[in-house]
Amino acid sequence: MRLKNLTDLFLYELRTMHDAENQLLKALPQMTDAARDAGLKKAFETHLQETAHHVSRIGEIFDILGLDKKGEPCKAIAGLIAESREMIRDAGDDRAINAALIASAQKIEHYEIASYGTLIALARELGYDNAVVILKQTIEEEKTADEKLTALAEGGINHEALKKAA
Ligand code: ZN
Ligand code: FE
Repeated sequence: MRLKNLTDLFLYELRTMHDAENQLLKALPQMTDAARDAGLKKAFETHLQETAHHVSRIGEIFDILGLDKKGEPCKAIAGLIAESREMIRDAGDDRAINAALIASAQKIEHYEIASYGTLIALARELGYDNAVVILKQTIEEEKTADEKLTALAEGGINHEALKKAA
């Protein structure tokens, strides 16, 4: 896709996030299964429900702007998901698996926060006020998910992994 202007860039980023969120709808149940901690499983389950909303909110923006609901393959999220799978496969004990899952989930959340931050800035610039409101709801949920993962990591999972390794 050739980027002639900011409108094209907004559309490109929106389509990329549409694909990214759809990839996460498939990856999160696998991450939930892989988790060896009830709190972590719960966090992934909650974020799966939120992710379904993220997909439909992007759909709403396509509708508002009269655009096709078309995805643009998100290679970055595909890479982060692939890396996560490799880490879990190579991790031996349960605590290392939990810590690896948190690490990769936080990389994913940070990617999403950066992407939605860009989309919000572009939407503001382009005067897409309705899109700004919708995108802000999503970025807040991504930030909360990230904070929850930090709390889970600091609340014992990483600590336990370190203790066991020592
Ligand atoms: Zn999301
Ligand atoms: Fe997310």
